[in-house]
Amino acid sequence: MTIAVSPQSLPALVLNADYRPLSYYPLSLWSWQDAIKAVFLDRVNIIAEYDHAVSSPTFSMRLPSVVCLKSYVKPARYPAFTRFNVFLRDKFECQYCGSEDELTFDHLIPRAHGGETRWDNIVTACAPCNLRKGSKLPHQANMHPRQKPWHPTVQELHNNGRFFPPNYLHESWMDYLYWDSELQP
Ligand SMILES: [Zn+2]
Repeated sequence: MTIAVSPQSLPALVLNADYRPLSYYPLSLWSWQDAIKAVFLDRVNIIAEYDHAVSSPTFSMRLPSVVCLKSYVKPARYPAFTRFNVFLRDKFECQYCGSEDELTFDHLIPRAHGGETRWDNIVTACAPCNLRKGSKLPHQANMHPRQKPWHPTVQELHNNGRFFPPNYLHESWMDYLYWDSELQP
């Protein structure tokens, strides 16, 4: 039930019963249709609303901007293996040269050598570095990533995520997103 973050779609931020986002990566957002359905199924409480309302001849309701699950769902400890999450682990930097442009993926052990598409074999690389390394092993290409790729925890991605917030965050979500950030002196 996740959707692209777009203000036009008036998505609802979904909090777990402990008032923390159900998921950070991707951010747990429901379409307004799903959010209203969950309200009527009594699965969530409405915490904040948009000004925008939906109405029919017999009914009117402001769209929820933040909802909270009534029963706690145990969060996943490890994040999904997605494009975004790999980039986030690597802080959106080519692991060979540090470039932030034209990012793609490199198989540390190339597929031609039996390398798998897994957290511990995929690194963020810019297109020129990716091309340069080609299907060579790291020592053959003399190209070594800045850090050995690993399977990050949600907490590790969360730490990096503070530096790369989603392109759109509704103001009513802010209280629930970075409340546990370290305070700057
Ligand atoms: Zn590069």
